[in-house]
Amino acid sequence: MIERREFLMTHTVSLIFEKSKEGKQGWSLPCNHFSDVEIHSLVEANLLRRVHPQLPSVSEPEIVRHYVTLSQKNFSVDTHFYPLGSCTMKYNPKLNEDAARLEGFAKIHPYQPEDTVQGMLHLLYDLEQSLREITGMDRFTLQPAAGAHGELCGMMLVKAYHDGRGDKARTEVIVPDSSHGTNPASAALFGFTVLTVKSDARGRVDLSELKKLAGPKTACLMLTNPNTFGLFEDEIREIQKCIHEAGGLLYYDGANMNALLGLARPGDMGFDIVHLNLHKTFSTPHGGGGPGAGPVGVKKKLIPYLPIPLVEQKNGTYFLNYDVPETIGRLRSFYGNVGMHVRAYTFIRRLGREGLAQASRDAILNANYIKKKIEKEFAVPHPEFCMHEFVAQAVHQNNLGVHATDIAKRLLDFGYHAPTIYFPLIVPEAMMIEPTESESKETLDSFIDVMNQIAREAVHFPDRLKQAPATLEISRPDDVAAARKPVLTYKDYLGAAHLHSEKPEPGTPCPC
Ligand SMILES: *Cc1c(COP(=O)(O)O)cnc(C)c1O
Repeated sequence: MIERREFLMTHTVSLIFEKSKEGKQGWSLPCNHFSDVEIHSLVEANLLRRVHPQLPSVSEPEIVRHYVTLSQKNFSVDTHFYPLGSCTMKYNPKLNEDAARLEGFAKIHPYQPEDTVQGMLHLLYDLEQSLREITGMDRFTLQPAAGAHGELCGMMLVKAYHDGRGDKARTEVIVPDSSHGTNPASAALFGFTVLTVKSDARGRVDLSELKKLAGPKTACLMLTNPNTFGLFEDEIREIQKCIHEAGGLLYYDGANMNALLGLARPGDMGFDIVHLNLHKTFSTPHGGGGPGAGPVGVKKKLIPYLPIPLVEQKNGTYFLNYDVPETIGRLRSFYGNVGMHVRAYTFIRRLGREGLAQASRDAILNANYIKKKIEKEFAVPHPEFCMHEFVAQAVHQNNLGVHATDIAKRLLDFGYHAPTIYFPLIVPEAMMIEPTESESKETLDSFIDVMNQIAREAVHFPDRLKQAPATLEISRPDDVAAARKPVLTYKDYLGAAHLHSEKPEPGTPCPC
């Protein structure tokens, strides 16, 4: 039997260097563009490379096959159903890509004079108007490059607001115990003390606990609604009253707005600051597929603190406004990931008001459909109707020695990406399932059949689950080491002592 390591060496990643043969060539440079540029005169002598880089010499077909084969070993929304709760892995329409590749968007440079990029500025301006309307906020910055970056921006705005009023004692940020990990992390990173409010038996913020925590030190409450159980915080009016009466602000984590588009608005619920993930709700690529975008919207009283520049318009001419005296400053280079803004704008304009509302209705329907069809086999902590996602539990299976990890791994054998597991942290053996609106009934039905089959396997063939996945080239990598100490070069790969195949401890949260 060949060792797993050898198997990987010959079948997965190693081949491109091993195929190298001097004299083979798989590249070509454009002939006219650079041929008249004297590279040596532009780059300082001490910066010039003295030895050639060690690159493989392979032919074009070899390199194309290498990378296409690698890409096929991946799970992606273009190839697989991806019910990763809280991540909203919806389909990324190809029309978005067409728009982003239009020359007028793709080939402009951020240092171009404003009068030569009016089209892009117009789009950014209109995108802001759309996001305002969708959320009920008064202004947006499009700069933050991710949800967590938006949260950091939000924390800076919270501090600037309180400081601006001379209210310097507000050092505490309250988050629910079901909150996404980035919420307490962002608040702590910016220097706030994080207080956790418990969820009640209904999976919502425990209002009486919240009342005990809110006070003169409260800077803000960070809340996601629907929360990470997929449940709507139906006491949101009381929650907002409690925080506002204590003098704090309300921050809305709108990374997953997928249940509310066109149906309900955080601005109307009393939130003061909102961040959105365009790479979740608004169908722009996600994770390894592209840079993120986490625009932040605010109510009027926070507009003076927004990051610069803001995109504005006078007599039909668009411009970048840097004249914002109380701004928290610049949040990143240039103006945000504008290629993502083009994609999100395309998504919004394509669906329109009614289309967006229908997308949310379908997302809710799809989640409830799966929930209903698997709840005989898998425990569901909150059996009421859910919003765009729900949490199931592998607790019956636990008695058979099978954990949520094993179910998630077994799903890979059937060609499904795993749900988010062990999150929210307060639910034992959690599996958080979010199908999104982009899946057909056929896909949902197949997934349901597979989930129920896996539940039967847990009873009759538990080892099959514990050894899954059996069909993929890597079975059980060390998830944490893979994220924290990735082996990304051929040299490191050869140097890696062993390929991790230990089983992760059940209970390890998914780093989604
Ligand atoms: C994904 C997510 C975030 C973080 O967004 P990133 O773009 O990954 O930084 C924050 N909150 C919730 C609820 C999320 O689902």
